[in-house]
Amino acid sequence: MSLTNQLLQNNLNRLRLLCQSLFAIFCLYIGWQFYSFYLWTTETGKVFTPRPPAVEAFLPLGALISVKRLFLGGEYDTIHPAGLTIFIAALLIALFLRKGFCGWICPVGFASNLAERAGKRMRISFSLPAWIDLPLLSIKYLLLGFFSYLILWQMDMESLTAFHHSSYNLISDAKMLHFFLQPSILTGAIMLFLFLISFVIKNFWCRYLCPYGGLLGLLALLSPFQIKRAPDTCINCKKCEQICPSSIRITDRKTVRNAECIGCLECLPVCPAKDCLTLGLAGKRRVNPILLPVLILGLFLLSYLTATVTGHWQTQVTVDIFRQLYQQITTIGHP
Ligand code: SF4
Ligand code: SF4
Ligand code: SF4
Repeated sequence: MSLTNQLLQNNLNRLRLLCQSLFAIFCLYIGWQFYSFYLWTTETGKVFTPRPPAVEAFLPLGALISVKRLFLGGEYDTIHPAGLTIFIAALLIALFLRKGFCGWICPVGFASNLAERAGKRMRISFSLPAWIDLPLLSIKYLLLGFFSYLILWQMDMESLTAFHHSSYNLISDAKMLHFFLQPSILTGAIMLFLFLISFVIKNFWCRYLCPYGGLLGLLALLSPFQIKRAPDTCINCKKCEQICPSSIRITDRKTVRNAECIGCLECLPVCPAKDCLTLGLAGKRRVNPILLPVLILGLFLLSYLTATVTGHWQTQVTVDIFRQLYQQITTIGHP
């Protein structure tokens, strides 16, 4: 491997690891903050901790409802505005910068990567054969289709608004916390299964089950950034495919236009053939690969700053209302 490629590999891999680690630590921090806020509202905790708006990132179905309300009624979500902002940022990143949200930001994707690496070290990790991989790949799209049908097709403005103002929507973050803190036996068994299988089958949750990733992947098909391969210089060593976390058959094509490509760039530096594998734009074979993560992180940060400055980050629900509703959490059901 050339010195340039080695430098590129070290820097890109380190940068990605750093970004993913920082976002994961940040998520753990907001998880802890939200838990402390929840304890305070239920009078179990003595010290007041402010509710972190970023916790709304984990409410993608509510965000999909908010996107439709924004589109139909022009009204920005005032209950979970940060959730809507993060959702829109992820959609924009997918549209222009591949599934960069999955490859560089999402902490679940990072956990999946870590499990895969641990599985490889333990020599228990493998990819499923095509005959089972392809049907399983459709599950996340079926889930996406199901939720899209319910929300985008079935719900009119009246039912969207009714859901939006419902007590259930107001406490959906606390409901989610409850779901993870007090899982039923079935939920606990499913979570344990998903945790363990991530060490054995590469990227199991992200590849087969996550409808959020499915949506981002479909949008990413329109992205101008693509991995490009020059067949005349390719020596067919398959190193790119071995390292690809999304198991893409890169050597089957000149341009990777695949809904699974997360823009991680891991394939570029391992390629031993000079100028064979590059990051390109539609109509341009090579751009500096560092451009992709810079734009992904820049767009994400810009979305956050814009939302903060324009008052679309902090919820307008008061702490007292959260407190009252969280105390009734077990009696509030889905509308
Ligand atoms: S597929 Fe889903 S869980 Fe995985 S990285 Fe993407 S958004 Fe996160
Ligand atoms: S093709 Fe390259 S950039 Fe895309 S997911 Fe695979 S390794 Fe990452
Ligand atoms: S790593 Fe490079 S040379 Fe090897 S198969 Fe992939 S594109 Fe071809």
